[in-house]
Amino acid sequence: MISVIISKENIGNEIIEIIEKSDINHLKNAFRIKIGEIIRAVDGEYEYICEVLSIEKKIIEVKILEKNEDKFSSKVEIDAAIGILKNDKMDLTIQKLTEIGITKIVPLLTKRGIAKIVEKKDKWDLIVKEATKQCQAVKLVEIEEPKKLQDLDFSKYDLAIVPYECEDENSLRNILNKNKNKPKRILYIVGPEGGFEKEEIEFLIEKGVTPVSLGKRILRAETASIIVGGILVNEY
Ligand code: SAM
Repeated sequence: MISVIISKENIGNEIIEIIEKSDINHLKNAFRIKIGEIIRAVDGEYEYICEVLSIEKKIIEVKILEKNEDKFSSKVEIDAAIGILKNDKMDLTIQKLTEIGITKIVPLLTKRGIAKIVEKKDKWDLIVKEATKQCQAVKLVEIEEPKKLQDLDFSKYDLAIVPYECEDENSLRNILNKNKNKPKRILYIVGPEGGFEKEEIEFLIEKGVTPVSLGKRILRAETASIIVGGILVNEY
């Protein structure tokens, strides 16, 4: 079903007004919607099943037929702090973590990070919006401002892990087995293409973050980010 993301101020008791130019263009010209057609709208909290009432140049009005609770989001908050990767890799990671249902993405400024930090927030937010519509999610992934490891608030998480390729004791599996009581907030931290410096790992361990191995193979950062996200969402 076609999905649009709506701001709460455009939602009345019975009518939703679609006024975003890009949405109107998409619905009219790409999806060629007709009056009477059923479409889906989400506002970040609820899902609305709607019937198209009118299609004008600057506004499309739809009638709310159903207002549903969000059954597409994990009850556990899973935040991913990712060493900022080069363009297409970061774009792919953001798209896939949105599809998987990660709650928040924190772009990380790390010692070995090589990606240029030019204004990418708008582009990343657009990737989140498109992926949210495609995967029928209700909540949008929040992309925070780029942070240093020192800026992360470790205290708010019940479980914090750092996939670390030099870790040979803890596997992700045995850490999850130990955490059978469902954590409410999880943080996982993945390094950039060049990985973390030893001091960065030591800093994270000091802060109570557990290094975990994903196996003997060295995965690309985007692969590790996506795999760990998928395992955590499915585990909890
Ligand atoms: N130091 C790596 C190397 O030797 O090529 C580069 C880091 S790897 C490309 C990027 C990130 O993916 C790492 O910082 C780590 O977080 C994660 N990663 C990759 N392979 C992993 C593995 N086998 N176990 C745990 N983490 C892994």
